[in-house]
Amino acid sequence: MKAQRPAPGDLIQTEILALLGAAGPLSRAEIAQLLRVGTATVTDHTRRLIGEGFIRELKPHASSGKGRPRVPLQLVPTAAHVLGLRVAIDHLAGVVVGLDGQITDEFRLPLRVAESPVALLTRVLQEQIEARRNTTPIRGVGVAVPGMVDPVSGVVRLSAIMDWHDLPLAAELGRALPVPVLVDNDLRSSTTAELLFGMGRDHDDFLVLGIGDGLGMGVVLERRVQRGADGFSGEFGHLPVDRTGPRCNCGNRGCLQSFVGQTALLERARRAGVELGPGYGLSELVDAAERGEPAVLAVLEEAGELLGRSVAGVVNVLAIKAVKVIGESLVLWPHLGPAFTAAAVAGAIEPLRDLEITVAPWRDTEHARGAACLLLARSGAITRA
Ligand SMILES: [Zn+2]
Repeated sequence: MKAQRPAPGDLIQTEILALLGAAGPLSRAEIAQLLRVGTATVTDHTRRLIGEGFIRELKPHASSGKGRPRVPLQLVPTAAHVLGLRVAIDHLAGVVVGLDGQITDEFRLPLRVAESPVALLTRVLQEQIEARRNTTPIRGVGVAVPGMVDPVSGVVRLSAIMDWHDLPLAAELGRALPVPVLVDNDLRSSTTAELLFGMGRDHDDFLVLGIGDGLGMGVVLERRVQRGADGFSGEFGHLPVDRTGPRCNCGNRGCLQSFVGQTALLERARRAGVELGPGYGLSELVDAAERGEPAVLAVLEEAGELLGRSVAGVVNVLAIKAVKVIGESLVLWPHLGPAFTAAAVAGAIEPLRDLEITVAPWRDTEHARGAACLLLARSGAITRA
């Protein structure tokens, strides 16, 4: 049997909900065994969850031995819904999620820049909450923003891509909306979803590498999503790799993302002589790679190698055994992946070379689901008490 897991108190309740959602009805003893916590802890938390109506007791199984009959507990996924919103450069992606982390509804809206961000988000969220008032009442709202966000205060310190500076988003939305609001960085939001419903099933420590225009890294240690001072952790794209390299949007030279970010890849392909046409973007790069253009394949292979070697550095520092890769640039993974994997494994110290690298198709709703999971991860935020 595995050692008892580190057990941050407020997460246990959520993990019980997540487990029942995935595995179906289980007895308290089975939950305790699967979550690697004590039975008394499970009994304590399930009492509260039954009180909330989030789980219910089923008819006891006849006991096979002498002990008391085992009472299976069942999740009531529809007992509460939360709304997650992803802010992207040109659109908003939203989802409604039940207690089991499953998406029950989703929406997508273009982002117009004419309105102030707070006014726009307030209006959209008010409409969405109101529209569901009689069907699936929303207990809380999570918002995932690209950039540096302090998740405790919910202040967006800097979102270069949105041009937001020191925006107290959680406080402003919280004043206007009838439910609790949590705001965090988009990658950390998705990392929270991974902890509850994905990688966290098998690992107490793991990394989530986000590849898109920027590069981010979610770090989970002892089942906690690491936030760092003021919530600025995870700025993997600004790993300094070459002091003579190109100027990065952070002001420094030669940051990792100025070599392997989406814009950098496009620019490097163009300089290598690849015809990308006016207004080219990621899909043109994918097409060129699929056509087997040698210059593009060389750029992507080199980028994959650099990325893999950089990840190996973090793996070695934190003794990590599992990495999940997410993000828009995953469409390039067939061309980035082989060099990435080879470099990450080769760069890892010997005891960490069985590094597990997981890739799944990227969906636009993922950061939105992550935002919803910010609420689920603090189940106290959505209880009636
Ligand atoms: Zn930088």
